[in-house]
Amino acid sequence: MASSTLVWLRNDLRIADNPALAAALKNEEPIHAVYVLETDRALRPLGGAAKVWLHESLKALNDALAERGVRLSYREGQSKTVIPEMIREMKAERVYWNRRYDPAGRAHDASLKKGLKADGIAVESFNAALLIEPWDIATKQGTPYGVFTPFWKALRDKLIADPIGRAERHSEIKPPALDFGKPPFWANGILERWAVGEEAAKRVLSGFLDDLLADYPNDRDLPRKRATSEMSPHLRFGEIGPRQIWFAVRHLIASNPSMANAGDKFLSELAWREFSYHLLYHRGDIARHSMQERFDEIEWRSDAKALHAWQKGQTGIPIVDAGMRQLWRTGWMHNRVRMLTASLLTKNLLTDWRKGEQWFWDTLVDADPANNPASWQWVAGSGADAAPYFRIFNPITQGEKFDSRGDYVREWVPELRNLPDKWVHKPWMADVETLDKAELKLGITYPIPIVDLSTSRERALETLKR
Ligand code: FAD
Repeated sequence: MASSTLVWLRNDLRIADNPALAAALKNEEPIHAVYVLETDRALRPLGGAAKVWLHESLKALNDALAERGVRLSYREGQSKTVIPEMIREMKAERVYWNRRYDPAGRAHDASLKKGLKADGIAVESFNAALLIEPWDIATKQGTPYGVFTPFWKALRDKLIADPIGRAERHSEIKPPALDFGKPPFWANGILERWAVGEEAAKRVLSGFLDDLLADYPNDRDLPRKRATSEMSPHLRFGEIGPRQIWFAVRHLIASNPSMANAGDKFLSELAWREFSYHLLYHRGDIARHSMQERFDEIEWRSDAKALHAWQKGQTGIPIVDAGMRQLWRTGWMHNRVRMLTASLLTKNLLTDWRKGEQWFWDTLVDADPANNPASWQWVAGSGADAAPYFRIFNPITQGEKFDSRGDYVREWVPELRNLPDKWVHKPWMADVETLDKAELKLGITYPIPIVDLSTSRERALETLKR
């Protein structure tokens, strides 16, 4: 058998702008691709919702790879064993992958690379996930960035490499069967809500650029409106790369300068993702340790009942419950509401941010090793460039500002649908007659708030100040 090339796919489930795959396709050799659901103990296992997404995404990619004559395998196990096994089976002389940036994953890849090279295998790794890799951008003093705005200004001035085109090869095979078993019963809401895969990602992006980008700066905070790109799960699994998005937006601005402000605002949000990866790379295990160490001395409250009520969208605070239920049903939550739900948990309920981060990790389809812990730490106040500890969102005024008619709340918390707009964000303040008319029995059909917003706010301020 002739020698061949192994492409180890990870968070790069696409054909276009995939440097590892493109490098393999340059050789004339047979190519085999593998995805390993890693069980190495040092690596964080994927959450449930992300795994549902992953399986759908691999099915889509399997067909696209087969059209190019590339056979995909799916394995579960320790990649340090699976990858060498595959190399032996296939008589591969080359292994290509795109890099990851979490400390455990990096250490793991470095050691694997060393071992393979010692065995005479050619190993190469590439950048598919970032506009700028963390070591290619630094402050004037040569140190990593800790504050977003100067990071963004520096990033904007960097020359971002153009995406590379779709990797092609004129050869076709029958896609191999991938058997993931049946999706879990709770996956229906996710599968109905999303179109998964590279083609879907491209479609969603172009729809967003055509129809929504112009209003993005004004509408992106309104949770009921479809106003943001919804690219996050596609980016998480690399069904599209940030260079492709960057290039598409820049291209649009060049042909239509009136889009410059909106385009810039959108790219600045994409830059938050880059910033999170910058922190993940330079600050180590940010899902476990507070970036500001003093936050690890806080005596967090441990109230299992409150945590459970928060997870299930039964806190009695409407906008928070709406968000948590949207998350549970669809695997996604609007950014503004992510901030409000995280603030209620870490501030009003004084619960360790790690518990919230872990719940999001399990339930988000876009659960991201950089964005999730960095954003949780931003809200908790423990992060680099975080919201100051005394910023505690008021979910009533935030709800009234960003969901002024209560449409978002009514969609996800139908118990409240008959309440007049005035009370929909604070049903416990409405009089008995209003509640009766709305057929709402507080404490029976919908909870009384599990926490008093103003005393818990004072408690959080006291504790955090100490
Ligand atoms: P758009 O507004 O269209 O933004 C485009 C892209 O920019 C996003 O897809 C995302 O990749 C990036 N982006 C936007 N906002 C942020 C941000 N604040 N931080 C980092 N990147 C951003 N995002 C994740 O991708 N995965 C997570 O696990 C995640 N967890 C979060 C947890 C909390 C507590 C909070 C407050 C935010 C979290 N975010 C996370 C960031 C943000 O909420 C989502 O990226 C965004 O809501 C995704 O929707 P979109 O793609 O429509 O965003």
